[in-house]
Amino acid sequence: GPNSERLIERQKQIDSSAVAYPNRVPIALKDAKGATVRDADGNVFLDFFAGIGVLNVGHANPYVLEGVHEQLDRYTHTVDFPTEARLDLIDKLDSIAPGNLSGNSRVIFGGPSGSDAIEGSIKLAKHNTGRHGMLGFEGAYHGTTSGALTLTAAKKYKAGYAPLLPDTVHAPYPAPSNDVGVEEALDAVARKFEDPYGGHETPAGIWVEPIQGEGGVVVPQNGFLKGLRDVADDNDAMLIFDEVQTGIGRTGKWFAADHFGVTPDAITMAKSLGGSGLPIGAMMYHEKFDTWGPGGHVGTFRGNVPAMVGGIRAIEYIEENGLLERAQTLGEQIRDRFDELAEDVTEITDVRGRGLFVGVEFRARGDSGELVEEIQRRCYENGVLVWSAGRGGNVLRMIPPLVITDRQTEVAMNVICEAIRSAVD
Ligand code: PMP
Repeated sequence: GPNSERLIERQKQIDSSAVAYPNRVPIALKDAKGATVRDADGNVFLDFFAGIGVLNVGHANPYVLEGVHEQLDRYTHTVDFPTEARLDLIDKLDSIAPGNLSGNSRVIFGGPSGSDAIEGSIKLAKHNTGRHGMLGFEGAYHGTTSGALTLTAAKKYKAGYAPLLPDTVHAPYPAPSNDVGVEEALDAVARKFEDPYGGHETPAGIWVEPIQGEGGVVVPQNGFLKGLRDVADDNDAMLIFDEVQTGIGRTGKWFAADHFGVTPDAITMAKSLGGSGLPIGAMMYHEKFDTWGPGGHVGTFRGNVPAMVGGIRAIEYIEENGLLERAQTLGEQIRDRFDELAEDVTEITDVRGRGLFVGVEFRARGDSGELVEEIQRRCYENGVLVWSAGRGGNVLRMIPPLVITDRQTEVAMNVICEAIRSAVD
């Protein structure tokens, strides 16, 4: 519409050329509520993109915003002074932590982003092991800052920015769609620790997304994360799960770690941790690694109080409304529907995910990324926002707010399935 176009045109004149979205989903935002957003011309969209997984409790969640408003009127910034909000959020995170992290955790708030949390985890692993090497995975995405970028795998993000951190290696991530098995992947990981001729330092830690997000909603085969736990233990390395995208209920459990029964030494989180989009990053780690001491890891915005209130309220809201179970049920329904569609549409090569973290992989005769972009465009024209992920953008990624209703889900699924059918025709 004309209002969106005007704002997009203005953005093109003055904003950074680095902004990603307007070219592919040309909307300017007016307001948003729950699972819907309204553009500057009054068009309403169902949001299966949710700010890249930030809005697990939905846009402008009233219960979250009520608490945030109250906090805004009291004070907004304290650095590290103890506040009820800070300590309550730490307690809440401990209560939802996987395995024996629960009851034994410490939390450090970084800056407001996932990248900040990752940088903290890199320092923590170095500090605890006295080593500096890092092990990450092919297809991984961990953020934009130099350490996080080092752990990120895709060249499209890294090309031209070398040298990054030294002695970092990437091992294959096992999934049927990657043609990599668990044993092969774990052998590769173990070799990175053992091989004195590998040409790199022994890693201080293993950084892994328990389900890869930007890599294409890639669910690892059973046994992989458990195997990583063993390798880390055998080599006195830290095991860090990056749950920036998968955490706080997205996959139908509090953390994706819960699906696999594996407890990492540290979990990084951000995105949905702040409730309806308030910026906050954090790392929760086992207290045995709490070796920093006063001032060991600092930063001005380490924990913004309104965002902390947003986090407490988001966790309460998910608990009180049974949204973990809801995400599991809805996610299964959505995947069933795509499985059915895949019987007719041969370009769909995989349907995967956990909870409301869903990926549909395409292999087209031409460019699979272009096909997914075309599907995205058709969804947008019919009122649904979806995003892509994966190698060459060949995966349609769906991460709607967990508060989405049955009716909204059905309407969106009709649009998405029709967009896929018509785009492959
Ligand atoms: N880790 C993962 C798994 C992510 O998905 C992202 C963001 N997409 C990040 C880290 C980086 O977070 P941020 O963009 O907030 O720095």
